[in-house]
Amino acid sequence: MTREHVDVLIVGAGISGIGAACRLQERCPSKTFAIVEARGAIGGTWDLFRFPGIRSDSDMFTLSYPFRPWRGSQAIADGSSIRDYVQETARAYGVEERIRFHHRVVNAEWSSPESRWNVELERSDTGETLEISCRFLFSCTGYYRYDEGYTPEFEGIEGFGGRVVHPQFWTDDIDYRGKRIVVIGSGATAVTLIPALAERAAHVTMLQRSPSYIISLPAVDPLARVVARILPTRLAYPLVRWKNVLLALALYGFSRRRPAEMRRLIRKLSERRLPPGYDFDTHFKPSYEPWDQRMCIVPDGDIFDAISAGRVSVVTDRIDRFTETGIALESGSTLEADMVVTATGLELLPFGGISLGVDGEEIDVGQAFTYRGMMLSGVPNMAYSFGYANQSWTLGSDLTAREICTILSHMDRYGHTRCMPRVPDPEVAPSQFIDLSSGYVRRAIDRFPKQGSRDPWRREQSYTQNRRAFRRQPIDDPALEFSRGRVPAPNAAPRPRRPAPPRSGRDDLSAVPSP
Ligand SMILES: Cc1cc2nc3c(=O)[nH]c(=O)nc-3n(C[C@H](O)[C@H](O)[C@H](O)COP(=O)(O)OP(=O)(O)OC[C@H]3O[C@@H](n4cnc5c(N)ncnc54)[C@H](O)[C@@H]3O)c2cc1C
Repeated sequence: MTREHVDVLIVGAGISGIGAACRLQERCPSKTFAIVEARGAIGGTWDLFRFPGIRSDSDMFTLSYPFRPWRGSQAIADGSSIRDYVQETARAYGVEERIRFHHRVVNAEWSSPESRWNVELERSDTGETLEISCRFLFSCTGYYRYDEGYTPEFEGIEGFGGRVVHPQFWTDDIDYRGKRIVVIGSGATAVTLIPALAERAAHVTMLQRSPSYIISLPAVDPLARVVARILPTRLAYPLVRWKNVLLALALYGFSRRRPAEMRRLIRKLSERRLPPGYDFDTHFKPSYEPWDQRMCIVPDGDIFDAISAGRVSVVTDRIDRFTETGIALESGSTLEADMVVTATGLELLPFGGISLGVDGEEIDVGQAFTYRGMMLSGVPNMAYSFGYANQSWTLGSDLTAREICTILSHMDRYGHTRCMPRVPDPEVAPSQFIDLSSGYVRRAIDRFPKQGSRDPWRREQSYTQNRRAFRRQPIDDPALEFSRGRVPAPNAAPRPRRPAPPRSGRDDLSAVPSP
């Protein structure tokens, strides 16, 4: 077993991991670091998903990094442009050469006597096992499984004569031209995929159990178009970025405070794009309030236009079973199909399935509290990157990366070797980590850490509020325990480790697809 040591080990080369590496290099230049990535490419989500029409559904001025402006006025970008942007950032900032591809972290064990993490990795290309130790572990592993999407059990699916595809596993060779396609689902993926499929398919049916809120935004940012002509990028970009931060927060705040008015507004914006007399209540009126679940954003109302053009129809019903030629519905009607796309969601997974331990004790992540949405109570020298559900992910992940750099610099300044959120006192009431009622959240939320009822054991869904808190709150927060310990030489023999738990099939990421 080979072993090396770095100051910081970043796990994941998606938008968060690359951003964290750039920040580390910028703000803590003396730190040694490596990025370990299970797949063979940079980009995470934006490299994995290849279905037709894949694009951002939050604006690129806030999904891009604040230190590397998104150029142009296109607010909604396609998946490959986002992947290119992340790859080019890694290259431009010199972090690309720090990435070890095909290195999947399976186990990480904190050793207090050694003041370090002993991290066990598997090479997904050669099967080799290796170990790296680090002073600080930074998990930038996203929030869902890569090897599996969520598909409910459908009776008779194996007897269906056409093809069934989950969008997470779409490949370029899938031919859907001239086909009758049923897309099961009404979430962000379904509404993104459907207009793109409709361009070539004979017809696309969106089959949903219940509707979601769909809001149309301009694909090209009107302010960005104007300011790009009159201002240099260094001024235009922050201006548009801040406009979008504040607009997204205002819309979210308005939805939570005045849901009835927000519902009316969404209805007005959608109905005018649909054919006269369209049954809006059945197909587009959800039973929950705006932002109880993630809102679907569509550029220039493309899905409504496809419905108006007759290329897409919406059916709100429940699946009884698959037949050889399509889907039988509980209402008694049937949908004939050549192909079915199961846009039924993701399988959430915290920390890329890494098994974590502290001094021989396995950590039950579901019992830990989140410290300001970036560290875990009782777990030393470890952070994780998690973005927002109601705004662009990167706003949250970049804030976390900057805060972690501040903590690392503080530790260096005072000679601390350990930084650990304490366990909150019992009067801190637990609440759900992700404040959404969607099925994919409910199915897995007990595997994620808890939020507390008060600061610093929670992170509000507000970039401006968190940014203010990060700037004002002292680093030596009483909830954060800093301590010094003798640091043995990095290459001292490792102490015996907690044996890695047997990996169940569900957590096994060995099928992680690579390009
Ligand atoms: C279809 C889709 C569309 C989306 N659209 C938007 C949007 O428009 N706006 C928005 O803000 N958010 C969106 N999201 C959320 C999106 O996931 C985030 O925007 C962002 O890409 C997350 O980046 P990340 O780097 O944190 O995680 P990921 O993109 O998931 O990357 C994590 C990386 O970590 C690696 N990894 C995981 N586990 C391990 C391990 N154990 N060892 C080594 N490596 C590991 C993975 O291989 C991957 O490369 C979307 C998500 C999906 C699925």
